[in-house]
Amino acid sequence: MAKERIALYPGSFDPTTLGHLDIIRRGAKLVDRLVVGLAMNTGKSPMFTLEERTEMVAYEVEKISKEVGTIIEVHSFRGLLMHYAEQIGAQVIFRGLRAVTDFDYEFQMVGMNARLNSEIEVAFLMASEKHQFIASRLVKEIGLMGGNVRPFLTPRIAERLATRCREKGGIQR
Ligand code: ADP
Repeated sequence: MAKERIALYPGSFDPTTLGHLDIIRRGAKLVDRLVVGLAMNTGKSPMFTLEERTEMVAYEVEKISKEVGTIIEVHSFRGLLMHYAEQIGAQVIFRGLRAVTDFDYEFQMVGMNARLNSEIEVAFLMASEKHQFIASRLVKEIGLMGGNVRPFLTPRIAERLATRCREKGGIQR
């Protein structure tokens, strides 16, 4: 029997956007098992707790997993990305790539990670045209300013974001 192909898709997912879900759907088609890994030590101060971020993405990937027929798991990890990839037996790490903005950072990351374990490939999936400009950071800013975040999120996550923005005393319209 062929070896199970396992991919890790890491990130902060604060919150998960349609861009993330598109990468998950497309990436899931390429492997047998996709692990969405939420980084615990991001250095960023998140709007949603790790538990909230995990629950939100887990809910959304359930449908995708059924549609695509690939096992999709959501876990959180602490420490080095490469160590976590080794731990779960991933052969590949997926990253999404938007226009030129992501390139610099990702290029450097790949270079460093290859030194840690050159057996694990980092594969980039280009953001779809529709999702090119979606970034969690900007979606949060729009939410806090009272803008409409529905074009960028699933209805369930948009609702959660609107609620959080109200709790944080964001502008309401
Ligand atoms: P990180 O803190 O690791 O950048 P993010 O949650 O912001 O975590 O992003 C996780 C991954 O998803 C990254 O590879 C990022 O480039 C990718 N990504 C984020 N938004 C989009 C999008 N709109 N389209 C495609 N990929 C995306």
